[in-house]
Amino acid sequence: MFRRIAIALTLVVTFATSGSPMWAQSTAPTDDDLKVTLLGTGTPTFNIRRFGFANLVQAGGMNIMIDSGRGAGIRLFQAGVSPGAIEAIFLTHLHSDHITGLPDILATGYLGWKLIGGRKSGLNIYGPKGTAEMSRGLSMFFAADSAIRSADEGLKAEAMGVNAVEIEAGLVFEKNGLRVTAFPVNHGEKIKSAFGYRIDYNGHSVVFSGDTKYDEKVVANAKGADLLIHEFAASPQDMLDDPVYQKILDHHTTPREAGKVFAESAAKLVVFSHQGLLPGKNGLPSWDEVVAQVRESYTGELVIGEDLMQFQIGQGGRTILMKGAEWPR
Ligand SMILES: [Zn+2]
Ligand SMILES: [Zn+2]
Repeated sequence: MFRRIAIALTLVVTFATSGSPMWAQSTAPTDDDLKVTLLGTGTPTFNIRRFGFANLVQAGGMNIMIDSGRGAGIRLFQAGVSPGAIEAIFLTHLHSDHITGLPDILATGYLGWKLIGGRKSGLNIYGPKGTAEMSRGLSMFFAADSAIRSADEGLKAEAMGVNAVEIEAGLVFEKNGLRVTAFPVNHGEKIKSAFGYRIDYNGHSVVFSGDTKYDEKVVANAKGADLLIHEFAASPQDMLDDPVYQKILDHHTTPREAGKVFAESAAKLVVFSHQGLLPGKNGLPSWDEVVAQVRESYTGELVIGEDLMQFQIGQGGRTILMKGAEWPR
């Protein structure tokens, strides 16, 4: 395990700027901190190391999620959080790779066993137009299961439901000092609405770009944020004429564009997630190529996100807990 941790730390050092390594700023975490765990850093591609896009934010005594891609329930459990203990899930948009983990979070979360379930009221899901219909579909999918468990185990109907909230841009959630603000992003003309989210707590902030092309609204919302978690897609040169690749690249941010966003936002730490490395005839683009393109305009700290990597932001500075490094490579 120590070897794996060493490898991952080297990765971060490689992409960090000069000066003290980030983890040297670590201080003991406190309950006043804002904690972020990357549950899934992948895309629709099946990848055992990178589950579907999903994130856990812990603050104000609550667990909230941004998106719930493939395997989110498993990663939550690995992070020590029961699917039944999620206060709310905020969806950036309704593409499948951001929601395929939802059924598991819903149905495992309402089981009576508190270790993995124990939810007493419906699952709160916030998202764009279409979220209510999707949520009705989720409930229908589990209609037989909830009827059986109601009759057999005495589970309450209200615990097994979904409370869907279709949002507009602006402040969408505020509780225990935690504020969630949605902002529109440009994921393509036909994908409306698509949101990014800014989360503020106790003077600290984390921003999720959502799926988006280069967008000044991400820059504006991430101004001075403690943490910016941003997507990207990168194609090898030999595939740029491929119409499928062109379509993908037309909906996402290139590493070069991401570098611009990072530089313009002046976020204190940026993290790549939703990692869209597209294969070419000679394999995937290398991280060296991707980082070099970012470095054309951005010289600050950059972390290549890994599943289960955790960030803790508090008065004492920033801590990065490299739990992702423990995952087999
Ligand atoms: Zn998408
Ligand atoms: Zn996506």
